[in-house]
Amino acid sequence: MEWIDIGANLAHESFAGDIEDVVARARDAGVGHFVVTGTSVAASEAALALARRFDAASPGLMSATAGMHPHHAAELDATALDRFAELAAAPGIVALGECGLDFYRNLAPHAAQLAAFRAQLELAARLRKPVFLHERDAHVDFLALVREFRPHLVGAVAHCFTGGEAEVEAYLELDLHIGVTGWVCDERRGGALQRAVPRIPPGRLMLETDAPYLLPRSLKPKPATRRNEPAWLVEVARVVAELRGETPAELAAHSSATARAFFGLTPGRSR
Ligand SMILES: [Zn+2]
Repeated sequence: MEWIDIGANLAHESFAGDIEDVVARARDAGVGHFVVTGTSVAASEAALALARRFDAASPGLMSATAGMHPHHAAELDATALDRFAELAAAPGIVALGECGLDFYRNLAPHAAQLAAFRAQLELAARLRKPVFLHERDAHVDFLALVREFRPHLVGAVAHCFTGGEAEVEAYLELDLHIGVTGWVCDERRGGALQRAVPRIPPGRLMLETDAPYLLPRSLKPKPATRRNEPAWLVEVARVVAELRGETPAELAAHSSATARAFFGLTPGRSR
């Protein structure tokens, strides 16, 4: 069985001290590929450097995305956009993003978020790159922009999907892919997602940890540190498979094949 973590923030400072061990534990758990998330110009460059370092030692192990997270939307000027265009052409960058809207934490003004999201969707359409999308508490505005650009996008995944059945239907109607994290393991706030997960058809569903965030709350025993890591993708998968009435092997087969097709990954070679 092989798992693919389509969203791991491995260039995050919390992994700086033991990234080799973190990656080794995940590989032992069956994670065969990691897509390292880029969230700003500097973070995307760091994600690519990290992915290339591991990929050089183990071809096909890692790739990265390049984009401006909505929290940093106000930083997206012409220079940053040019840099993302360059990065998008670099070997190892498999998608643009994460980009999108976050009206929950509101770390950037809505106008800046909407402008940055539009600019990155335009770039993805022009460069024919898939997009890695983030949405929180902004469903209506998010859907409107994605709907406008969808005919021009080669692919789009709603990462860290936390919605319910209605949102799944809306996203499938737009032919989006859906990334599910350990949010699904949360007994307090994961109920809607737990009901929605069986509605995602094979070929649209991918798995991710969003590490170091979103430690699965169903882990037993609870790890001493609150840091999430890609080895726990297996716990996300366990819960998702159970909800869907699939065996872990069935889930691994279709979710990993979907990720390989979506990001253009081939075994032994990232791109
Ligand atoms: Zn996100």
